[in-house]
Amino acid sequence: MAGTRTFTMLKPDAVEDNNIGNILQMITDGGFKIVAMKLRQLTTEQAKEFYAVHSERPFYGELVEYMTSGPIVAAVLEKENAVADFRTFIGATNPAEAAEGTIRAKYAESIGRNAVHGSDSDENAKIESDFHFSAEEYVG
Ligand code: UDP
Ligand code: MG
Repeated sequence: MAGTRTFTMLKPDAVEDNNIGNILQMITDGGFKIVAMKLRQLTTEQAKEFYAVHSERPFYGELVEYMTSGPIVAAVLEKENAVADFRTFIGATNPAEAAEGTIRAKYAESIGRNAVHGSDSDENAKIESDFHFSAEEYVG
């Protein structure tokens, strides 16, 4: 059985801090299978669109600036219960509140620069995956 899918990004701080390998190792060791992946520099328009749901929040401008400050790694992951399991696996948005052993506890700097993204629902996982990948970019 193929399992379900979620979408992740290794954010600019993770790439800049040379943590792509460390975080991908954690992800695959955690039982998540990578079925699509790319390194990509987001434009301001792309970052604004991806985070449009937060456009009214006070941190939106800063978030868009941060997400365009360097390349990100976008990936689609497959696992049973992928969305909820991956949210648990990455830890709380604020690394000060992230459970020990989670990706954010290990690699996030702050609530803003928090190393990774994880979709919050199956619906958003599909929308976010479609934002970054076309059908022919998936394996398996
Ligand atoms: N963010 C921020 N300040 C905040 C809350 C969020 O800069 O007070 C950023 C942070 O990078 C976070 C992203 O906005 O990952 C999206 O926020 P959300 O509440 O969706 O958190 P997530 O789903 O990433 O845990
Ligand atoms: Mg979110």
